[in-house]
Amino acid sequence: MAYKVPFVDFPLHYRRMETEVLATVKEVLGRGDLILRDQLRQFESNIASFLGMEHAIGLNSGTDALYLSLRAAGIGPGDEVITVAHTFVATIAVIVHCGAKPVLVDVGEDFNMDMDQVEPAITPRTKAIIPVHLNGRLCDMEKLMALARKHKLLVIEDAAQALGAKFNGRKAGTFGLTGCFSLYPAKVLGGFGDGGIVVTNDADIATRIRLLRDHGQRRETGDVLCFGFNSRLDNLHAAILDVKLRYLNSWLQRRRELAALYQRGLSDLDDVKLPPPPQAEGRYYDVFQNYVVRARARDRDRLVGYLKDCGVEVLVNNPIPVHHHQALGLQHFRLPMTERLAQEVVSLPLNPELSNEQAEFVIDSVRSFYSGRPFAIKGGK
Ligand SMILES: *Cc1c(COP(=O)(O)O)cnc(C)c1O
Repeated sequence: MAYKVPFVDFPLHYRRMETEVLATVKEVLGRGDLILRDQLRQFESNIASFLGMEHAIGLNSGTDALYLSLRAAGIGPGDEVITVAHTFVATIAVIVHCGAKPVLVDVGEDFNMDMDQVEPAITPRTKAIIPVHLNGRLCDMEKLMALARKHKLLVIEDAAQALGAKFNGRKAGTFGLTGCFSLYPAKVLGGFGDGGIVVTNDADIATRIRLLRDHGQRRETGDVLCFGFNSRLDNLHAAILDVKLRYLNSWLQRRRELAALYQRGLSDLDDVKLPPPPQAEGRYYDVFQNYVVRARARDRDRLVGYLKDCGVEVLVNNPIPVHHHQALGLQHFRLPMTERLAQEVVSLPLNPELSNEQAEFVIDSVRSFYSGRPFAIKGGK
């Protein structure tokens, strides 16, 4: 079924930049610059400047940005790493892949790590914290960094959903030892396939991650300095992402405009709880990677079905909380807010390709669900 308002519109996204993208593909392929070449270095350098960081390392995924960060930081068996369950499963998987133990804490009303729960979760084995800046909004990094300093813990930021978002004027991914970003297609800066990037101001960590991403090889000398992985970002992809990076600020601006539109159109409904509007709180600059509303648990699945019937493609991320999947062995955690959110959340379409008319259509559809009255579909749209 073709939705009137698709959750993301990859064909439209592509068509809008087709000329530039194809010119880049032709140029890179024509030169045969495929692996670890200038275009990758250029993209890394542009991302580093965008974030004001010294080192950026292009990787195959956001998952490996997290994994190689933990490995480079020496996290391993016997260590504990604190993070949340209200996240994409990869955040927790990388801890397990290092041989360390994930310690999960609950989230607060804004879907991010509840900082009051971090200190009680710290033990003598705790080595690191992974804050997840979900939906394009940062965690309270003032509280988190104070805790990390006090207990001498490393901070690896899962900023996969927060490229360009800020807290106290400072961008996501620039607070911790490393900042980890995903360039997966649906992310605010997405490739035409998988990709990731990690940033740091620590030269040793940067060197270790560069080694780990390329089989532990130092290509200039032929030395192999450690057992590594194949976690490189493709050169062709880096070149395309570098073209897209020029549009990032305007895309983030557009996301915030759409969030403001949803806010105006839906804020008077008692039955849906909206995310904080753009600039509601001076400390936060949110980029709305996702626009996630909360419905009453008893309404949620009907609302989702109704919106889909209207032609609005909505998503429910994590309908089963990560710690409830039997196979993962994390059922012993009790995380009431995480469990509650799993029953309440609905992600509405929000991306730079979405038109005002489409956003209005989403608003009208949500409103008609709650008023019990189907709305008249306006002609010509
Ligand atoms: C997307 C995402 C990841 C993983 O990124 P990939 O590029 O898909 O490997 C990790 N954490 C969060 C919060 C994400 O949204």
